[in-house]
Amino acid sequence: MSADCIFCLIAAGSIPCDKVYEDDTVLAFQDLHPQTPTHTLVIPKRHIPCLDDLNENDRNEAGHLLERVAHVARTLGLAEKGYRTVINTREHGGQEVDHLHIHILGGRRVGPMVSRPGI
Ligand code: 5GP
Ligand code: ZN
Repeated sequence: MSADCIFCLIAAGSIPCDKVYEDDTVLAFQDLHPQTPTHTLVIPKRHIPCLDDLNENDRNEAGHLLERVAHVARTLGLAEKGYRTVINTREHGGQEVDHLHIHILGGRRVGPMVSRPGI
């Protein structure tokens, strides 16, 4: 746990969240500023700063995390119509919270990832 990490504090229960799912290693909760009708974040409870910090020793944990993303999306009723998952990494990825998290965006059709060809 990192004492100055907001998602660690949420995982520890020190900061409240609108919880969607929890198990021993994973927590899912609603994003504070939803970009779509359903906008949920799935995090490892353990402090992992970003996707680039995963290594081969984390394969089981990372696999469980990803499988739980699909599970959470199903329980939110998003699976049939579909949804977008996003992982922002560091500065150029637009990561604002330095604790690995997977966005689940659903409830409406989201636009194309790249709006202008060639970019
Ligand atoms: P990033 O840009 O790092 O990929 O996404 C961080 C996300 O965390 C943003 O969508 C932001 O709205 C959300 N967020 C930031 N602080 C909090 C918080 O304290 N509680 C919740 N539920 N979401 C937060
Ligand atoms: Zn953290």
